[in-house]
Amino acid sequence: MAVPKRKTSKHRKNIRKGQIKATLSQVQSCPNCGANQKAHCVCASCGTYKGRQVLTVEV
Ligand SMILES: [Zn+2]
Repeated sequence: MAVPKRKTSKHRKNIRKGQIKATLSQVQSCPNCGANQKAHCVCASCGTYKGRQVLTVEV
């Protein structure tokens, strides 16, 4: 089995991961507040997930 010769550095990893961008299908509107949110994630503006309050958001 092929094994990597060197550990991938944080810099190299971040360069690679920086090319991955959220596509439009991964963005949906929150059913509670209507703000754009990433799919399968807690809404950052109101703190709800699947209709229940998960985080307390300070204004
Ligand atoms: Zn929301």
